[in-house]
Amino acid sequence: MPSIVNTGNELAAVCKRLAELGMANANGGNVSIRLAEGRYLATPTGMCLRDVSAADLVTVDATGTKVDGPGEPTMEVKSHLSLYQQRPDLNAVIHCHPPAALTWALAGKLPPLEAYCEGYFLVGKVELIEPYQTPPELPTVIKSKTENTNGFLLVNHGLMMAGSDLRTALLRVEDYELLCRAALDAEAIGGAKPIDPSKLAWLAELHGKTFPR
Ligand SMILES: [Zn+2]
Repeated sequence: MPSIVNTGNELAAVCKRLAELGMANANGGNVSIRLAEGRYLATPTGMCLRDVSAADLVTVDATGTKVDGPGEPTMEVKSHLSLYQQRPDLNAVIHCHPPAALTWALAGKLPPLEAYCEGYFLVGKVELIEPYQTPPELPTVIKSKTENTNGFLLVNHGLMMAGSDLRTALLRVEDYELLCRAALDAEAIGGAKPIDPSKLAWLAELHGKTFPR
Protein backbone atom coordinates (compact mmCIF):
# COMPACT_ATOMS: atom_id res chain seq x y z
CA MET A 1 0.00 0.00 0.00
CA PRO A 2 1.49 3.41 -0.91
CA SER A 3 2.22 5.63 2.07
CA ILE A 4 0.17 8.80 2.59
CA VAL A 5 2.39 11.84 2.10
CA ASN A 6 0.18 14.54 3.63
CA THR A 7 -2.73 14.76 6.07
CA GLY A 8 -6.02 16.63 6.02
CA ASN A 9 -4.74 19.04 8.66
CA GLU A 10 -1.79 19.91 6.41
CA LEU A 11 -4.15 20.42 3.47
CA ALA A 12 -6.32 22.79 5.52
CA ALA A 13 -3.20 24.69 6.63
CA VAL A 14 -2.19 25.18 2.97
CA CYS A 15 -5.68 26.50 2.19
CA LYS A 16 -5.30 29.12 4.93
CA ARG A 17 -1.80 30.01 3.70
CA LEU A 18 -3.08 30.55 0.15
CA ALA A 19 -5.78 32.87 1.53
CA GLU A 20 -3.21 34.77 3.64
CA LEU A 21 -1.07 35.24 0.54
CA GLY A 22 -4.05 36.71 -1.35
CA MET A 23 -4.06 33.84 -3.81
CA ALA A 24 -7.57 32.51 -3.06
CA ASN A 25 -10.22 35.16 -3.58
CA ALA A 26 -13.87 34.60 -2.62
CA ASN A 27 -14.70 30.93 -3.28
CA GLY A 28 -11.87 30.60 -5.80
CA GLY A 29 -9.24 27.88 -5.59
CA ASN A 30 -9.13 24.26 -4.55
CA VAL A 31 -6.57 21.85 -3.15
CA SER A 32 -6.27 18.06 -3.07
CA ILE A 33 -3.91 15.32 -1.96
CA ARG A 34 -3.47 11.67 -2.87
CA LEU A 35 -4.41 9.19 -0.16
CA ALA A 36 -3.81 5.42 -0.21
CA GLU A 37 -5.73 2.85 -2.28
CA GLY A 38 -7.12 5.08 -5.01
CA ARG A 39 -8.60 7.68 -2.71
CA TYR A 40 -8.08 11.45 -2.78
CA LEU A 41 -8.89 14.21 -0.29
CA ALA A 42 -10.18 17.48 -1.74
CA THR A 43 -11.59 20.81 -0.65
CA PRO A 44 -15.40 21.12 -0.85
CA THR A 45 -17.16 23.23 -3.43
CA GLY A 46 -18.59 26.56 -2.36
CA MET A 47 -16.24 27.27 0.56
CA CYS A 48 -13.64 30.03 0.90
CA LEU A 49 -10.24 28.39 1.32
CA ARG A 50 -9.60 30.61 4.36
CA ASP A 51 -12.48 28.85 6.14
CA VAL A 52 -11.66 25.24 5.24
CA SER A 53 -10.83 22.90 8.13
CA ALA A 54 -9.82 19.23 7.99
CA ALA A 55 -13.40 18.26 8.95
CA ASP A 56 -14.74 19.95 5.78
CA LEU A 57 -12.62 17.91 3.36
CA VAL A 58 -14.20 15.40 1.00
CA THR A 59 -12.79 11.99 0.08
CA VAL A 60 -13.32 10.92 -3.55
CA ASP A 61 -12.44 7.84 -5.58
CA ALA A 62 -10.47 7.78 -8.82
CA THR A 63 -13.55 8.84 -10.81
CA GLY A 64 -14.18 11.87 -8.60
CA THR A 65 -17.20 10.30 -6.92
CA LYS A 66 -17.64 11.25 -3.27
CA VAL A 67 -16.82 8.50 -0.80
CA ASP A 68 -16.89 10.44 2.46
CA GLY A 69 -17.20 13.96 3.83
CA PRO A 70 -19.86 16.53 4.74
CA GLY A 71 -20.11 18.45 1.47
CA GLU A 72 -19.56 17.92 -2.23
CA PRO A 73 -16.06 17.91 -3.73
CA THR A 74 -14.85 20.81 -5.82
CA MET A 75 -16.03 20.41 -9.42
CA GLU A 76 -12.40 20.82 -10.51
CA VAL A 77 -11.32 17.65 -8.71
CA LYS A 78 -11.50 15.77 -12.03
CA SER A 79 -8.71 17.96 -13.40
CA HIS A 80 -6.63 17.11 -10.31
CA LEU A 81 -7.37 13.41 -10.88
CA SER A 82 -6.12 13.65 -14.47
CA LEU A 83 -2.75 14.71 -13.09
CA TYR A 84 -2.64 12.06 -10.36
CA GLN A 85 -3.54 9.26 -12.76
CA GLN A 86 -0.86 10.19 -15.28
CA ARG A 87 1.83 11.10 -12.75
CA PRO A 88 2.38 8.70 -9.82
CA ASP A 89 5.13 11.06 -8.54
CA LEU A 90 2.60 13.83 -7.80
CA ASN A 91 0.71 13.69 -4.50
CA ALA A 92 -0.64 17.23 -4.12
CA VAL A 93 -2.41 19.68 -6.46
CA ILE A 94 -3.14 23.35 -5.78
CA HIS A 95 -5.41 25.47 -7.94
CA CYS A 96 -5.60 29.18 -7.08
CA HIS A 97 -5.82 32.68 -8.53
CA PRO A 98 -2.58 34.53 -7.63
CA PRO A 99 -2.85 38.14 -8.89
CA ALA A 100 0.26 38.30 -11.09
CA ALA A 101 -0.21 34.79 -12.50
CA LEU A 102 -3.83 35.73 -13.20
CA THR A 103 -2.60 38.78 -15.13
CA TRP A 104 -0.61 36.50 -17.46
CA ALA A 105 -3.55 34.10 -17.65
CA LEU A 106 -5.90 36.92 -18.67
CA ALA A 107 -3.44 37.93 -21.38
CA GLY A 108 -3.14 34.31 -22.52
CA LYS A 109 0.66 34.34 -22.22
CA LEU A 110 3.28 32.40 -20.26
CA PRO A 111 5.83 34.47 -18.30
CA PRO A 112 9.49 33.89 -19.25
CA LEU A 113 10.36 31.17 -16.73
CA GLU A 114 13.76 30.70 -18.39
CA ALA A 115 14.69 34.22 -17.22
CA TYR A 116 14.54 33.24 -13.53
CA CYS A 117 17.15 30.66 -12.58
CA GLU A 118 15.74 29.48 -9.25
CA GLY A 119 12.16 29.35 -10.46
CA TYR A 120 13.18 27.53 -13.62
CA PHE A 121 14.45 24.56 -11.66
CA LEU A 122 12.00 24.69 -8.74
CA VAL A 123 8.81 25.15 -10.75
CA GLY A 124 9.72 23.10 -13.83
CA LYS A 125 7.60 23.01 -16.96
CA VAL A 126 4.31 24.92 -16.99
CA GLU A 127 1.86 24.52 -19.87
CA LEU A 128 -0.49 27.23 -21.11
CA ILE A 129 -3.90 25.71 -21.73
CA GLU A 130 -7.34 26.98 -22.70
CA PRO A 131 -9.88 25.70 -20.16
CA TYR A 132 -12.92 26.99 -22.02
CA GLN A 133 -12.50 25.21 -25.34
CA THR A 134 -15.03 22.41 -25.22
CA PRO A 135 -14.81 19.72 -26.33
CA PRO A 136 -12.48 18.41 -25.09
CA GLU A 137 -13.12 19.26 -21.47
CA LEU A 138 -10.36 20.46 -19.16
CA PRO A 139 -9.58 17.09 -17.46
CA THR A 140 -9.04 15.57 -20.91
CA VAL A 141 -6.80 18.43 -22.05
CA ILE A 142 -4.74 18.17 -18.85
CA LYS A 143 -4.45 14.41 -19.24
CA SER A 144 -2.81 14.89 -22.65
CA LYS A 145 -0.20 17.33 -21.33
CA THR A 146 1.00 15.85 -18.06
CA GLU A 147 4.31 14.43 -19.27
CA ASN A 148 7.08 16.37 -17.51
CA THR A 149 4.58 19.12 -16.64
CA ASN A 150 4.23 20.32 -13.04
CA GLY A 151 1.79 23.15 -13.63
CA PHE A 152 -0.77 24.74 -15.90
CA LEU A 153 -1.57 28.38 -16.49
CA LEU A 154 -5.27 28.33 -17.32
CA VAL A 155 -6.13 31.09 -19.80
CA ASN A 156 -8.79 33.48 -18.44
CA HIS A 157 -8.82 31.57 -15.14
CA GLY A 158 -5.74 31.00 -12.95
CA LEU A 159 -2.99 28.60 -11.97
CA MET A 160 -2.80 24.88 -11.23
CA MET A 161 0.42 23.54 -9.72
CA ALA A 162 1.38 20.10 -8.46
CA GLY A 163 4.15 18.57 -6.38
CA SER A 164 5.37 15.41 -4.75
CA ASP A 165 3.88 16.84 -1.55
CA LEU A 166 1.89 19.90 -0.44
CA ARG A 167 5.00 21.87 0.52
CA THR A 168 6.57 21.41 -2.92
CA ALA A 169 3.34 22.38 -4.67
CA LEU A 170 2.99 25.48 -2.47
CA LEU A 171 6.62 26.54 -3.00
CA ARG A 172 6.09 26.19 -6.76
CA VAL A 173 2.96 28.38 -6.57
CA GLU A 174 4.80 31.03 -4.54
CA ASP A 175 7.88 31.05 -6.79
CA TYR A 176 5.81 31.13 -9.98
CA GLU A 177 3.81 34.07 -8.64
CA LEU A 178 7.09 35.86 -7.81
CA LEU A 179 8.30 35.28 -11.37
CA CYS A 180 4.98 36.47 -12.83
CA ARG A 181 5.13 39.72 -10.83
CA ALA A 182 8.84 40.35 -11.49
CA ALA A 183 8.42 39.70 -15.22
CA LEU A 184 5.61 42.28 -15.32
CA ASP A 185 7.81 44.81 -13.47
CA ALA A 186 10.72 44.04 -15.83
CA GLU A 187 8.57 45.20 -18.74
CA ALA A 188 9.08 48.77 -17.47
CA ILE A 189 12.87 48.51 -17.82
CA GLY A 190 13.18 46.65 -21.09
CA GLY A 191 11.77 43.22 -20.33
CA ALA A 192 13.07 40.04 -18.71
CA LYS A 193 16.26 38.64 -20.22
CA PRO A 194 16.13 34.84 -20.68
CA ILE A 195 19.15 32.79 -19.61
CA ASP A 196 20.99 31.33 -22.59
CA PRO A 197 19.94 27.66 -23.05
CA SER A 198 23.55 26.48 -22.91
CA LYS A 199 23.97 28.25 -19.55
CA LEU A 200 20.80 26.62 -18.23
CA ALA A 201 22.33 23.22 -19.01
CA TRP A 202 25.54 24.26 -17.27
CA LEU A 203 23.63 25.56 -14.22
CA ALA A 204 21.67 22.32 -14.04
CA GLU A 205 24.89 20.32 -13.95
CA LEU A 206 26.53 22.71 -11.47
CA HIS A 207 23.67 22.53 -8.98
CA GLY A 208 22.61 18.95 -9.63
CA LYS A 209 19.20 20.15 -10.81
CA THR A 210 17.03 18.83 -13.56
CA PHE A 211 14.49 20.34 -15.92
CA PRO A 212 11.62 19.92 -16.59
CA ARG A 213 11.33 17.77 -13.44
ZN1 LIG B 1 -10.36 28.69 -10.27
